[in-house]
Amino acid sequence: VTPLIDSKRLWASIIETAEFGALSQGGLRRLSLSPEDGLVRDWLRTKCEALGCTVRIDEVGNMFALWRGGTSALDPIAIGSHMDTQPTGGKFDGVLGVLGGLEVLRTLAAENYRTRHPLMLINWTNEEGSRFSPAMLGSGAHAGIFDRDVVYETRDNDGLRFRDALDSINYLGNEKLGSVKFRAMFELHIEQGPLLETAHRDIGVVLGVQGVRWFDVKLRGQEAHSGSTPLQHRRDALCAAARLVTAVRAIAESSREGVGTVGSLKVIPNSRNVIPGEVLLTIDLRNASEIGLDQMQSRLLVQLDQLRIEGFEPEISEAWRNPALRFDSDCIAAVRHGAVQAGLETKDLVSGAGHDAAYVARVAPTAMIFIPCKDGLSHNQAESATFEQCANGVQVLLNSVISYDSGAFAVCYPA
Ligand SMILES: [Zn+2]
Repeated sequence: VTPLIDSKRLWASIIETAEFGALSQGGLRRLSLSPEDGLVRDWLRTKCEALGCTVRIDEVGNMFALWRGGTSALDPIAIGSHMDTQPTGGKFDGVLGVLGGLEVLRTLAAENYRTRHPLMLINWTNEEGSRFSPAMLGSGAHAGIFDRDVVYETRDNDGLRFRDALDSINYLGNEKLGSVKFRAMFELHIEQGPLLETAHRDIGVVLGVQGVRWFDVKLRGQEAHSGSTPLQHRRDALCAAARLVTAVRAIAESSREGVGTVGSLKVIPNSRNVIPGEVLLTIDLRNASEIGLDQMQSRLLVQLDQLRIEGFEPEISEAWRNPALRFDSDCIAAVRHGAVQAGLETKDLVSGAGHDAAYVARVAPTAMIFIPCKDGLSHNQAESATFEQCANGVQVLLNSVISYDSGAFAVCYPA
């Protein structure tokens, strides 16, 4: 029989840790490697050690609490997320995934439940990317995407180095980056979007993370007098840009699972009575699949070709890309099973936001569980999830780990 979590104990831990960095409107300011981050880390370490965990810290401050629930020498099954927040963040984003993991360990310990694998709770450093950029620095460094020394030299807005900030809260650990191994990882998180709430579903089974492509585009027209230049003599770069903005929207609407945004425009010379001679704009395309992204990109290039024929000399360069990611099918199956077992209604989703699980998925089988959040809001003090929603998520987290541990969903499993 799969044990039931203690939802009151879970909620109490959410309320208790929300003291570290509490803001007046119910939210949190717990920037990565701040004194408040140090306090919540100390709290977590104490609670994990009280359960008999061994807590190891790696070179960028990622915390790994190993719970030897298993009797074998198998790699542990991990549960992980983050405890840092945005400057005016809420008390669920990230925190729920770590405290949910703690509740899983506490439940299994209280029931004296033996898993085959050891379990591991992970608190990833600097997920938000708010104080130190980029986001998901700790999980990315673990997965070998960011170099340790580059991370160390990253500075906050006050010029303080990451390494010094890490040292100041006593979390400069000595475990080599990437050396802590685990069999798989599960991450529970609030959805940060409106889909579950709108569909009245309890649990999001997260199939993957959207791919992203960023472009910079330059369109050239001709500056001229706004009064004395007849319309047919104009090459108005902003009119061309306006067509491109609506084209990006149309490309997204005609794609299966895509979104597209022009979020920034620079108009030159930006003067009331001069026909714009040049416009620089940014394009952000996202899609659940790489094929979808390829299609969106080729439609975009067709639009630019049209503007080229009309004499706007479009130039496009790719500023950044992050490929679409599919989570591990065994882990996803374990989540689905865990939700059904808990009697909850699920919806399959693709995450629109980045998460630690996306980087971890490059080095270990991974999946995510979403719960609804009020009005789909996050990165806001008003971010909210109910007692019941949090409890549902953590029960599914526990069920998923137990399912995965049982091996029912593994294709090739060590004997
Ligand atoms: Zn988060």
